[in-house]
Order: sequence, then structure tokens, then C-alpha cells
Amino acid sequence: MDQQTPPAEPGFRESVDIMFNRAVKLMDLSPGLEEKIRICNATYVVRFGVRLRGAIHTFTGYRSVHSEHMEPVKGGIRYALSVHQDEVEALAALMTYKCALVDAPFGGSKGGLCIDPRAWDEHELEQITRRFAYELIKRDLINPAQNVPAPDMGTGEREMAWIADQYKRMNTTDINGSACVTGKPINAGGIQGRTEATGRGVQYALREFFRHPEDIAKANLSGKLAGKRVIVQGLGNVGYHAAKFLSEEDNAIVTGIIERDGSLYAEAGLDVEDVKKWIATHGGVANYPHATHDADGAALLEHECDILIPAALEGVINMTNADRIKAPLIIEAANGPTTAGADEVLRKKGVVIIPDMYANAGGVTVSYFEWVKNLSHIRFGRMQRRAEEARHELIVAELERLDEMLEHRWSMTPNFKEKYLRGADELELVRSGLDDTMRTAYQAMRDVWHSRDDVPDLRTAAYLVSIRKVADSYRAKGL
Ligand code: GLU
Repeated sequence: MDQQTPPAEPGFRESVDIMFNRAVKLMDLSPGLEEKIRICNATYVVRFGVRLRGAIHTFTGYRSVHSEHMEPVKGGIRYALSVHQDEVEALAALMTYKCALVDAPFGGSKGGLCIDPRAWDEHELEQITRRFAYELIKRDLINPAQNVPAPDMGTGEREMAWIADQYKRMNTTDINGSACVTGKPINAGGIQGRTEATGRGVQYALREFFRHPEDIAKANLSGKLAGKRVIVQGLGNVGYHAAKFLSEEDNAIVTGIIERDGSLYAEAGLDVEDVKKWIATHGGVANYPHATHDADGAALLEHECDILIPAALEGVINMTNADRIKAPLIIEAANGPTTAGADEVLRKKGVVIIPDMYANAGGVTVSYFEWVKNLSHIRFGRMQRRAEEARHELIVAELERLDEMLEHRWSMTPNFKEKYLRGADELELVRSGLDDTMRTAYQAMRDVWHSRDDVPDLRTAAYLVSIRKVADSYRAKGL
């Protein structure tokens, strides 16, 4: 998993720029506007000290704003030792394109803190997080109207709750304070279904892909999603949920899992939940009894399968392994898992890549729902529910009349009326909104992919759709 990008390859940010440039060449943007969209507007670097374990520890953090064509800007905060400016800027750029593609009305941003979150206790992490948040809040780099972070690698709802609380302490009169960050726990203003949203989005993206026979054929596959052999890299929040939903709900077979300490492989399929539990108790996948373990995890990326899901770090599919990848279909659950060079190699081999900016957009899509919920100060779905209920009551009255005619056969169904009247709850609304978003965005991408001979792949199509939208909003509002 820790495969190094060879020195000959461009870095992450350059890789994103190369892919952007490839798409922009097919458009008629003025050079000025093209550059305005591509470049990262600003990156704030902060170094702050926190007194911990009897000594002052200095941490380095970043918040990068890529594009402010829409505000607030949006993107996660990552906690990892590998965080650096280039990475945060590349991730911020991807947020711009991702939000545009799925019509989440945000500009792109991203943050990071150089830290190994496993090296600190919970109360220490809280102190560090609050201190980092303080620095960003002071500069409006966390603000419901200007910049709204979310979880990313190494962070989750716990950190988001600390950030939201820190913001509220510093802005006691801001009634919209909860909307300063998304991915919060439900009891701190979060929304149902946000935690698993990115994994859910990967599942919905694959379901949509498998609705199009022409696209399936392009990947040299046939048939349905059910029965497809899947290898997933990374059983973190995104990889775990994607693998779990695909195996439990779509009957895909998760044959391989790659983790920090190696990989697991089982031809007949792995029980994702069971592997997750094993990792939680044993600290890794080694010695898991129902699979073959290989300490060289990355080797499994090259194993035969139908669908490869990189759901961990960027740059894991690069010039050192691209020509040996056997999967005909790759769905990029992680941000930037394929380098620009590897992308080229895979395209020539005929591999179909469902690109990151689309594949992992489920997270920010549901973040948008959470932000709207916070700003509206009403439980999401409450108003819709009342309207639905009124409509349902009329239908139920009609059913009751029929029921009498049918000698009460209908009313013998257990709790039918209650179930019917319950209407759509928040989770159902979130799921259907996410599904709709993933379908619509896929169709926009594939229309471009299929209708233009000069668009060779879904990634270029995705860039074309999103750059067009960003350009239009710059044109509309003026620079
Ligand atoms: N960190 C996630 C991403 O890379 C979510 C961002 C958000 O919800 O703002 O898309």
C-alpha cells in the first residue's frame, strides 16, 4: 500500500493539472480563464504549539482554497503525517471539479494537519484539533458562509463536533454556527447517512455503470454487478462501506482486501464485516483465518478481478505497476489514486476508469444536505413528511373503502397503515437524493464520453462537464 511514486513521475498536484490540461485542450476557453480555473487561489500554512505531556509540540496545518467561483468553499480536513502543501492543493482542486460535477453549490477547498492521529490520546487530539480550528476560524477559513470543512482521511465525526463547538464558542451570536462544518454526529447537527455516504456513492455509481450495456462492454465485461469479483484497497470509512454494501446488497464478491499490513485474498469471497472486526481487535489483517495473507499488500492490486476499488491513498496506481493491472474496471473511491502517467497506460490497455471526482462525490453531496439542514433549522424532511402524510391519508381512506369491499383482506397485513403513513424519513431522503445525484452526474459524463470522438475516457468527460460549469459561473459573476 505504501508504493512510492517513482521520481520520474509528476507529483500529485501536477498530475491533476496534466489531466485538467488534457481536457481544457478540447474546450474553447480563453487562456486567461483557463489559468484562473486551474490555479489554486490561496494556501494558508499555520504552525502552532500545543502543550502536551509536559512539553510544547509544534504542528503544521494547511487550508487551501482552490476556487471561489461559488462560496462557501468546501472540502475535508485530513490528518496524516504525509500531509503537505502540494497534496492539499491537489485535493482542493479536485474538490472544485467534484462539487461542480454533482452540482453541489460550493467552490473547492481542502485542509490537512501533519500528525499521526494514532500517536495521541483522545483528549490530546481534542486539544490539537481545537487549536488548529481556532487558527482557521480566526481567518474565516472555517465559516458557514465562506469555508466549510468535513471529514477526510484520519478524521471523522468526533473531530467535526470539536470544530463546530470551537466555532460556536468563538461566534456565540451566529445562529448558523452548526453549518460551519459537515460530517458532524447526529446529536451535534449532523445528518443521517453522512458517515457511509462516500461508500454509498461508490455503490450507486457502480449500479449506474451497470445499467448501461455499452459502458459494460467498453470495460470488456458483461452481465450484472452481481457476481463480479472486487478487490478493494483500504478498509477505512470509504472502502469499508463500499465493500460492505456491494457484497451485502448487490451480491458482488469481495475477493481481496488490501490494508496497511498486507492483503487478504479468498476466491470464494471475504466477509467484509468479519474482516473489519478482525482488524479492530488484532490491529491488522495478518493471521486472519479465512483467507490467504500476503505481507506485500500492493501486489494484490495487480491480481485478476473484475472491479478494482482503490479507496486509500493517492498515487497507488502509478508507472511502476500500471501495465500489470489486470482489472478491466477501476472505480476511484480515493482521491487521485491513479497518476497521470498510469492513467495514460491504462487507457491504452482499454481499462475503464470511473474517476475520483465522480466516484467519491457521495460524501460532499450528503455534506451539502447537512449544510442545508443546518441553515434551514428544520429537521430534514419534516415539511416533506407532512405533505406526504396528507396525501397518504387520502390514499389510506380510499384503501379502507376498498378493504371493506374486499372483506377486510387488506387490513390483515401487519402494520400496513402505520408503515404507509410513516412516509420518508431523513435517511430515505438522503439516500434517494444521493442516488439521484450519482445517476444524473454519471449520465452527464457519459453523454460527453459517447457523443465526442475526441473524448477518450470518463475522466476527460468529467473534467469537461465540471470545467464548463465553473467557467460559466465565472463568466456570469465576473472575476
Ligand atoms: N473529504 C471528502 C472528499 O474528499 C468530503 C468533503 C466534504 O464533504 O466537504 O470529498
